[in-house]
Amino acid sequence: MLWFLCANTHSTRLLTCWGETFFAYTRSIDRALELSRSEFLRTGCSARLETMLRSFQLRLCPTHRQRSVLTVLLAHLCGLYNDCLWQRRDAWKVARKHIHYFDQQAELTQLRRQDEESRSFPVAIQRDPLRRLERAFQGFFRRIRHRQQPGYPRFRSEQRYDSFEVDGGNFRLEGTTVVIVKLGGFRFKTRCRIRGTPKVLHVKRCGKHWRAVLVCDIGAAAEKVMVVRAVGLDLGLSALATLSDGTTIRNPRWTEQMEKQLGAANRALARKQRGSRNRAKAGERLRRVHQRIQGRRRSYLHQISAFLVSRYDLVAFEQLNIRGLARTRLAKSILDAAWRELTWQIIYKAEEAGKWAVGVNARGTTQMCSACGQKVAKQLHERQHQCPHCGLTLGRDHNAALNILRLGESLVGVSAKC
Ligand SMILES: [Zn+2]
Repeated sequence: MLWFLCANTHSTRLLTCWGETFFAYTRSIDRALELSRSEFLRTGCSARLETMLRSFQLRLCPTHRQRSVLTVLLAHLCGLYNDCLWQRRDAWKVARKHIHYFDQQAELTQLRRQDEESRSFPVAIQRDPLRRLERAFQGFFRRIRHRQQPGYPRFRSEQRYDSFEVDGGNFRLEGTTVVIVKLGGFRFKTRCRIRGTPKVLHVKRCGKHWRAVLVCDIGAAAEKVMVVRAVGLDLGLSALATLSDGTTIRNPRWTEQMEKQLGAANRALARKQRGSRNRAKAGERLRRVHQRIQGRRRSYLHQISAFLVSRYDLVAFEQLNIRGLARTRLAKSILDAAWRELTWQIIYKAEEAGKWAVGVNARGTTQMCSACGQKVAKQLHERQHQCPHCGLTLGRDHNAALNILRLGESLVGVSAKC
């Protein structure tokens, strides 16, 4: 069975400080995400999925008492995380012994028997830092196996330990309240229409706000449609995307727009004394600037991806090595353009609508002539494609988009006129 994990909902106001890491993190879902990604990489296009997971963003409205309960809980979880890391590290240092998740889970049970304080927290949530640590170690060992640069799991500070996860059996939805085991009911607001069976809930502290991501199983993907209208997408910086019909999509460069506010907030933070209350306030202000940039970016990308998926049956785009590109001099602009976010949004929206989203290997698409297939070498600054063989004259990106469209169509095995 294939699973699919969707990154987001259309609710843009609530889309804020979530990175990619908010994805559902139980082991099965981790595996599912990996599967859907590897399937996507292998075939270049998303197969029809039998089960789709989709996440919905909620804004929690805890009471004062609940706020302090959550804060105390997070501190406790952070302590657990650090203790477990300590234990694993020392066991290896002293006795050359590996300690695993299940050992620590058994020990947690022991601890709960002896210690009244830890008994007051729900065990289902206490297991979350243990799982998290297990994943951290798995990642560490995987990097060693793959000869990448490993970083040993680190101790976490309470200020930065901001979230926990509750799995399906331990919470339930009742109207606009989410009831978590032992913690009680939390009112929430959302602009999403929640559907499907709730699987996992992530609760996260964002500065002084509390948010949650609800992951639901929304059943099988829609049957794939016949391809009538197809489009190729060339992602860039001067224009965020150029479509194969010649349309360009503007790149608003959000970070550049907000650079002034960002700089001011950063400088204000730097002037404040460490550990002071004013520093915390300045930090919150800086966080909000970043959040605003992110919100605007996401909102814009949602509009574009929704437009593309509703208008076309097949969207072909290039698969980019963003990690590689992000090490170059253009890193800031490239990360700001958020191509990966855009392609991810296109993929999941297409999947829900039964349309095709295809990532193609973009190698040579700029150089090749889209009319005759001959190679026309050009430098980065040449913005026009002029073919000496067939006389075709086009914008450079337009030509690339046409090539990407053709590759995408050949992957899916259709030929459509756009
Ligand atoms: Zn040509």
